[in-house]
Amino acid sequence: MSSLVFSLLFVAFFILTLGLRFWLSDRHIRHVLAHRAQVPAEFATRIPLDAHQKAADYTVAKTRFGLLTLLFSSAVLIGFTLLGGLQWLAIQLAPIAGFGITGQLALLAAFAVISGLLDLPFDYYRQFVLEQRFGFNKMTPGLWLADLVKGSLLGAAIGLPLAWVVLTLMEKTGNLWWVYAWLVWSGFQLLMMVLFPTVIAPLFNKFIPLEDASLKSRIEGLMARVGFASKGLFVMDGSKRSAHGNAYFSGFGANKRIVFFDTLLERLAPEEIEAVLAHELGHFKLKHIIKRIAVMFAVSLAFLALLGYLKNQTWFYEGLGVDAILASNAMALILFMLVLPVFTFVFSPLTSVSSRKHEFEADAFAATHAKAGDLVSALVKMYEDNASTLTPDPLHSAFYDSHPPASVRIAHLNTAAA
Ligand SMILES: [Zn+2]
Repeated sequence: MSSLVFSLLFVAFFILTLGLRFWLSDRHIRHVLAHRAQVPAEFATRIPLDAHQKAADYTVAKTRFGLLTLLFSSAVLIGFTLLGGLQWLAIQLAPIAGFGITGQLALLAAFAVISGLLDLPFDYYRQFVLEQRFGFNKMTPGLWLADLVKGSLLGAAIGLPLAWVVLTLMEKTGNLWWVYAWLVWSGFQLLMMVLFPTVIAPLFNKFIPLEDASLKSRIEGLMARVGFASKGLFVMDGSKRSAHGNAYFSGFGANKRIVFFDTLLERLAPEEIEAVLAHELGHFKLKHIIKRIAVMFAVSLAFLALLGYLKNQTWFYEGLGVDAILASNAMALILFMLVLPVFTFVFSPLTSVSSRKHEFEADAFAATHAKAGDLVSALVKMYEDNASTLTPDPLHSAFYDSHPPASVRIAHLNTAAA
């Protein structure tokens, strides 16, 4: 392929993806506004009109803000590639850091720092203007800054050694470097699954064992019924940052733990918490988590193989605005991470198809091991509290949502309950 042909292909996909994302957001906004005046009939008795309208306004504001960040990040992408930003950066760093592994690490680090800085104003606005306006922000600017510093240090402490290992493999292990890099990457992912709940998450939040004795015995009863052993039930101080509520499940093997946000426990009745947990346990018992990990590993192997091919092609660099004499393993990694989403976005509905199937299966599991009606009322409360729209545009939802729309899920659950 010539570099011009690749440039044109990149521009074609760039325009296609950008146009598609704009069109989806526009549809979504119009769809939500068109349903703003009235609570959908199936929720009319459960959700008040003002909550429904707040959800519509919040969704529209988030989607509009999403378009603004999309425009900005698209401009940054073109700036880094076709307009020569990365080429410029590599030229500035070469005399200081050289072309060896140190120089390449410097390039990766500089790229990460610049990208992070460019995102900062948007992160700040999202938290202190958008979330604030709808009453969800519980963060102080001081906490935001502390998170930023902690997150950056942690990112460097984990990212730099990992990048060093990958760059060394790329340099020293010949044509099959991507197989070794894949093994390292997969091992790293598994390690993170152990370290995240036990070491990383506690740096940002407090986790205390669930104390409420009657809720605890209710949950332990559910776990015994479905045959699930866990290291513990924890409550996380999510209210420190946000009024949004959630529950999740982390770790694997002996490290499994169930985490409830304090914001969720406050709002849901014990039987609703049990139903939500039954859904989460369904994901585990039906092997969704293992399947998701297997798919993730297979996809990363395929992408690394592709990168193994691309990094040796002159057109890959020159087609993206980087002169071939500046080609390096780090440059190949950066270009690949930057442009991959441009080529894969059109396929995103494919991934949500399987995650939706899993959601329906976990709902059905919850309906057999807890009460379907309790899960329905928990879902309705969570939608209301999080101001999630009940009336998303179906096409927008197919591209962006991992979960099926509330009305579809609830319709399935109501059939299960009947
Ligand atoms: Zn789920």
